[in-house]
Amino acid sequence: MLIGVVPLALCSTQLMPGRGFVVNLSIALGFVALSVLGLQFALAARLSRATAPFGIDAVLRYHRQISFLAVAAAFGHPVLLFLAEDRYRVLLDVVHAPLRAQLAWASVGALVVLMVTSIWRRALRLGYAVWHVLHSALGVLIVLAALGHAFLVNYYFSETWVRLAWALYAAAFLWLAVWVRLVKPIRLWRRPWRVAELWPEPGGSVTVGLERAHRHGGDHGFSFQAGQFAWILTGRTPFTLTYHPFSMSSSAVSSRVEFTIKRVGQFTSSIRELKVGDTVYVDGPHGSFTLERHPGLGYVFLGAGAGVTPFLSMLATMADQGDQRPCWLFLGNSHEGQITGIRQLGRLQGRLNLTVVHVISRPGEAWTGERGRITADLLDRHLPEHRRSLQYFLCAREEVVTSVEQTLLGLDVPAERIHSERFGMV
Ligand SMILES: Cc1cc2nc3c(=O)[nH]c(=O)nc-3n(C[C@H](O)[C@H](O)[C@H](O)COP(=O)(O)OP(=O)(O)OC[C@H]3O[C@@H](n4cnc5c(N)ncnc54)[C@H](O)[C@@H]3O)c2cc1C
Repeated sequence: MLIGVVPLALCSTQLMPGRGFVVNLSIALGFVALSVLGLQFALAARLSRATAPFGIDAVLRYHRQISFLAVAAAFGHPVLLFLAEDRYRVLLDVVHAPLRAQLAWASVGALVVLMVTSIWRRALRLGYAVWHVLHSALGVLIVLAALGHAFLVNYYFSETWVRLAWALYAAAFLWLAVWVRLVKPIRLWRRPWRVAELWPEPGGSVTVGLERAHRHGGDHGFSFQAGQFAWILTGRTPFTLTYHPFSMSSSAVSSRVEFTIKRVGQFTSSIRELKVGDTVYVDGPHGSFTLERHPGLGYVFLGAGAGVTPFLSMLATMADQGDQRPCWLFLGNSHEGQITGIRQLGRLQGRLNLTVVHVISRPGEAWTGERGRITADLLDRHLPEHRRSLQYFLCAREEVVTSVEQTLLGLDVPAERIHSERFGMV
């Protein structure tokens, strides 16, 4: 909010009431749109300190939601201007309009393309990687064109110190881009990992064990909290636009770092082709989906498919620490032969105070366990009387998490005890 309204504070030092309220409001909307759009770079920059208090899924949801506000302001700006005074309407002629207006149209046009490709990415059959490159490029174009427009129009820009403040603002956006695309990859390149082990899991997943490659000397360590994740990249260099997020599935107190990755698309399929010794870059740890942040007398973990991975790490860590607090794990899968993490769970047997409930949506005839989905009735049957005092962790695709969240609220579980991580958040 603060960053969004800073430009208005800058403008208020040199108010020009002669322009009239509507024109001034239109200019204010333009400035707010520009600063909120600039802020989007910070939200999407994988800055662990910025995302830690909220969780990456909440930050990306905010990124999405606040961009609607920016779009409303960005469109409100020209619309109000054209309504206020006829003389501005000549700017609608994009070809013959002055450069300052052409830059504004370029920014608005790019914004429209960005919105359409983001909202309807799946319907347009745009692959995630292509979309991500397009999204980043359009983001830079939108903000640079809008800044150029504001500098050339020169309303509320005449004071030197205001121009300087805006130049600093622009430099901060630029620095973020340089940080994400250059500084960070260089750091990762100096600290590569190598594949130490790789084995297939049921459910179309693969577990990859990584260790430091020590290419540039010195072990920089990798300490994480169970439930956190890292952005992963395979290949020769870390200089790329798209990284993929995966939760660590191994114990946080062991020296090995493992990821259990389910095949859903291009990148996750390519994991199967990795060989022992191959280089992997790991940007992390990130995330706040951890037991440390939400201490409790007992835990209920609810997941589906690959959503089990952060729980594998949490449970393995609890076992290594001799933690005997009661835990319940509810796992949704389509078939009993396709349960991601089933082997890791088997290894934890007898080391924890853990009840595992598998819920299978399309089971074979021999299946005697729970069938269908995770419902209120099912939870009611398995959870203890004092369930309101437990901490609940949910991890799966967006729709599943939202539906289980509603079910828990319906069972009177306090909202502040429900913590979630959404895997398909974009
Ligand atoms: C915090 C977090 C932790 C995750 N942990 C695991 C895990 O431990 N194991 C596991 O199997 N999966 C995990 N995922 C999901 C995993 O990141 C995606 O399945 C994977 O990136 C898909 O890439 P793809 O190219 O194979 O598939 P695509 O066909 O490109 O993508 C399938 C869907 O996955 C999502 N996705 C793709 N790329 C990204 C990306 N770079 N960033 C965010 N989302 C993306 C999109 O919603 C996309 O529609 C996690 C996701 C998040 C957000």
